Amino acid sequence: MFEAILHGSAPVQRRAMAKAITLLESTRADHRQQADELLTALLPHTGRAFRLGISGVPGVGKSTFIEALGLHLIGQGHRVAVLAVDPSSSVSGGSILGDKTRMEHLSVHERAYIRPSPSSGTLGGVAEKTREAMLVCEAAGYDVVIVETVGVGQSETTVANMTDMFVLMQLPNAGDDLQAIKKGVMEIADLVVINKADLDAIAATRAQAQITSSLRLLGLHGNPDNAHHNELVWHPQVIQLSALQGLGVDAFWAKVLEFKKLQVSSGKQVTRRQNQALAWMWERIDAGLKQAFRQHPDVQTLLPKLTHEVLEGRMAASTAARNMLAAQTK
Ligand code: GDP
Repeated sequence: MFEAILHGSAPVQRRAMAKAITLLESTRADHRQQADELLTALLPHTGRAFRLGISGVPGVGKSTFIEALGLHLIGQGHRVAVLAVDPSSSVSGGSILGDKTRMEHLSVHERAYIRPSPSSGTLGGVAEKTREAMLVCEAAGYDVVIVETVGVGQSETTVANMTDMFVLMQLPNAGDDLQAIKKGVMEIADLVVINKADLDAIAATRAQAQITSSLRLLGLHGNPDNAHHNELVWHPQVIQLSALQGLGVDAFWAKVLEFKKLQVSSGKQVTRRQNQALAWMWERIDAGLKQAFRQHPDVQTLLPKLTHEVLEGRMAASTAARNMLAAQTK
């Protein structure tokens, strides 16, 4: 499988990638061991792609945009992988990203690889599978990996934490109610895109100005007139485009390249990836410890009893926690 991912002919490689990703998504313990061996073997062949996160509410135009961008990049000789993080599918049983009919032209292109979101598990679990799928795509030589998400729960932060650049897509009326933009999301955006500018040019320009000034208020958007303005540091920007008409796609990519150049020359891309890898390791350790704790037989016996005691006010919550932690380490 390893050789086929790295060097297989297009159809052989595609099949091997699908097989590898299915293996990585498996929850069986013996599969997990094989999956870890595969990841370790692939790792030296990863990391060369640019990892682009794109987020926006359903209907903002993500798939229309990713298709236009993907085809544009393929035209320039790139190979493009598109992955998704959709935590809604495990809650509602249906995918908000609705993957069936999306990106019709891109999905059939041999230089594109599109994989829908893993459909079960917690956000952490879904994200883990997506991160690993990203490594498979990179080893197979895809040099642009796009990770798409909707703004459900913490999904934007999760995607920002696995990509080199995080893009937030907005509608032309976004500026009318800046409060509606989820708290904290603006702070993590490297670029804000106002899509559907063709629908209402005036509103789009207003939204661009309003979001730019709110980024300034957050201290994120640079002011070139400011004496302390540092040309060597990226300041989040706001641009307009029309994904449907394909307008502004090349300008978007020019911004991405500008960002990438600064991040690479300042060493920030490397540190961002290192920080992401370590944060991820700890996130998974925490999740694993919690799961092991809950599965421990003594904890399972104690938990209902002590829960009751805490609810009835007979035992302090912290005492109950200490008792169960002690039971688990015995
Ligand atoms: P997603 O849910 O974010 O993936 O959004 P889609 O890409 O499926 O787009 C939702 C709808 O908006 C579709 O009917 C698209 O044709 C339309 N749409 C997407 N981009 C644009 C645009 O730039 N201008 C206009 N007028 N419509 C667009």
